[in-house]
Amino acid sequence: MEPYRVKVVESISLPSREERERALQRAGYNLFNLLSEEVYVDLLTDSGTSAMSDRQWAGMMLGDEAYAGSRNFVHFESTVRELTGFPHVLPTHQGRAAEHLLFTQFAHRGDIVPSNMHFDTTRAHVLRVGAKPLNLAVPEAYDPASPHPFKGNLEVPKLVELLEGPSGASVRLVMVTITNNTGGGQPVSLANLREVSRVCHEHGKPLYLDICRWAENAYFIRSREPGQSDRSVPEIGREIFGLADGATMSAKKDGLVNIGGFVATRDEKLAARLKEDLILYEGFPTYGGLARRDLEAISIGLREASDERYLEHRIGQVRFLADLLSVGGVPIMQPPGGHGVYLDVPRFLPNLPADQLPGQALVVELYREGAIRTAEIGAIMFGDGETPPARSLELVRLAIPRRVYSESHLRYVAKVVRAVWARREAVRGLRMVEAPEHLRHFTARFAPLGH
Ligand SMILES: *Cc1c(COP(=O)(O)O)cnc(C)c1O
Repeated sequence: MEPYRVKVVESISLPSREERERALQRAGYNLFNLLSEEVYVDLLTDSGTSAMSDRQWAGMMLGDEAYAGSRNFVHFESTVRELTGFPHVLPTHQGRAAEHLLFTQFAHRGDIVPSNMHFDTTRAHVLRVGAKPLNLAVPEAYDPASPHPFKGNLEVPKLVELLEGPSGASVRLVMVTITNNTGGGQPVSLANLREVSRVCHEHGKPLYLDICRWAENAYFIRSREPGQSDRSVPEIGREIFGLADGATMSAKKDGLVNIGGFVATRDEKLAARLKEDLILYEGFPTYGGLARRDLEAISIGLREASDERYLEHRIGQVRFLADLLSVGGVPIMQPPGGHGVYLDVPRFLPNLPADQLPGQALVVELYREGAIRTAEIGAIMFGDGETPPARSLELVRLAIPRRVYSESHLRYVAKVVRAVWARREAVRGLRMVEAPEHLRHFTARFAPLGH
């Protein structure tokens, strides 16, 4: 059961069928355009949607809003240093701001940025400067039915081939995302991280980690990787961070806050350059685009997110929903990931061809059925700019916000998904009527086919 009890409640309600239909039309069939009030259970993202604890709220009241040298920054810096071992820590307003700072230093026109799998914002930052994002996840990552325990792993021989090949000089850094959000919230093993780190350092390339969900990843290592079950999550975390040169983090995930992030590094010279850009784009280094009280909430949240009782319940919730769907025959990405259940679109809607945007059609149908909001992670999110990747996934993500929903909410969600599954042959496709160039999933508009 939940290792917490409820102290504050927020009411939610189910809009009528007509209200849902009108909302879809107004939103151009893009659920990012819905009002939160039009949604009953919101599984759009687990980012910044966590419920903060009483201790975090108490911490907010201890905000020392000094422009420079706030005590909250001192607490934040010492917490991140202690958890990660990275000496230089720069707060940012969220994860993509940390990516902006890092890629401004490390990615230039013609460069290649390898990763296990780039997240949408990482990919967009790499593309923005004219560099090429390259996904090198293991083949199992692209097979939703494979039960491989670490589908977030990077395929090391491919990395070696790249670094030793003609394009090796175009690589200035290697990124690994833990857990791999785009690939289903799948973890990366410690063994894989050790190998990637060794290869990077043999070739003189720094290794940076996208550590949005490092605690969930460490929990999977503890429960699935041989020889790791006796170690604590923070202990595994310290080994992970020890293998890398630095990291970016959106604290909106495993920081259990509604806003915030950071970039951290061991490289003192780099830190000085990052700091100059930080001041220009985010703010003075002791607040980095945040209220100082937010830094206090992050310091407390980072520790709460690495608590094993919390993680056991959180990851258990994801598995609970996955099991309810699996027993109903719904095709999902296996094994279930750390922060959500991912529907396997090609098996869910085999009759809808790719040009009828089956992922988006499914997202729309789930809203129509029960006012649940989910996200397409597939052709619309990643089909812009570059030629489509050779191996791709078509997923719909049901992201579970942290400490927000109960088992009965998840039972409701499963009922809605299974109702759509039962009438899947009647789901109609969509076409895109407005498509911006970058990060188009946020703002594109669609229309139902046959209208
Ligand atoms: C959310 C996320 C980001 C970006 O963080 P924001 O706080 O949303 O800017 C980067 N990488 C991964 C893996 C993420 O999930």
